[in-house]
Amino acid sequence: MRPRIHPIKLGVDHCYIIHGEGIIMVDGGAPNQLKNFLKAVERLSIRPQEIKLIVLTHGHWDHIGSAKEIKDLTGAKVAMHQQEKHWLEKSLKPLPPGVTLWGKIFGRIMGLFMPLVHIPVTHVDMVLGDGEFPLSGYGVPGKVVHTPGHSLGSVSVLLETGDALVGDLAMNGFPLRSGPGLPIFAEDMQKVRESWRLLMDAGAETIYPAHGEPFSVDFIRKAL
Ligand SMILES: [Zn+2]
Ligand SMILES: [Zn+2]
Repeated sequence: MRPRIHPIKLGVDHCYIIHGEGIIMVDGGAPNQLKNFLKAVERLSIRPQEIKLIVLTHGHWDHIGSAKEIKDLTGAKVAMHQQEKHWLEKSLKPLPPGVTLWGKIFGRIMGLFMPLVHIPVTHVDMVLGDGEFPLSGYGVPGKVVHTPGHSLGSVSVLLETGDALVGDLAMNGFPLRSGPGLPIFAEDMQKVRESWRLLMDAGAETIYPAHGEPFSVDFIRKAL
């Protein structure tokens, strides 16, 4: 059975529900999004408790902000890379540097709002390392792979179908980019490129970014 991928908008972020034999969620949205989460799962006719795992692609505030509330409600385990798990466990809010002119300006603007952002802390149950983490135990044919660059603890979910949920390793659309492409913020652009080569070699075809609509990996191939 080909898993269905449902985007759910939690603040500025597209999180995703992957519905195969089992159900997992990718990313935990901006803070205070529990109501929107509940509306979204209701629309999909999913009981929150059917979600068994929440994979956080990385530790930026807009991806982990509602993780605690969603975890408490669903009972799902939270998986996150070892390099960033303390961001969620200690409510840290680091921002990555801009790597384009707009990225630098936008990063400054975002920095002004950061004192208003509060991340409820929760425990990370599954600490991801640099190796692959299989999802077959959760009824989803695919794996989590370490894809550093946007942040050093970034991971992607790669399904056997070629669908790749990459967090902020790509960005697509207003106000970040005018179309699909590489991130405008990154700790290490060299690592961003290496991570993309790894994903393409592993069969990534359709890219689901956390900001914007899905697109073909060909856009990235051209950008590299
Ligand atoms: Zn990010
Ligand atoms: Zn983001």
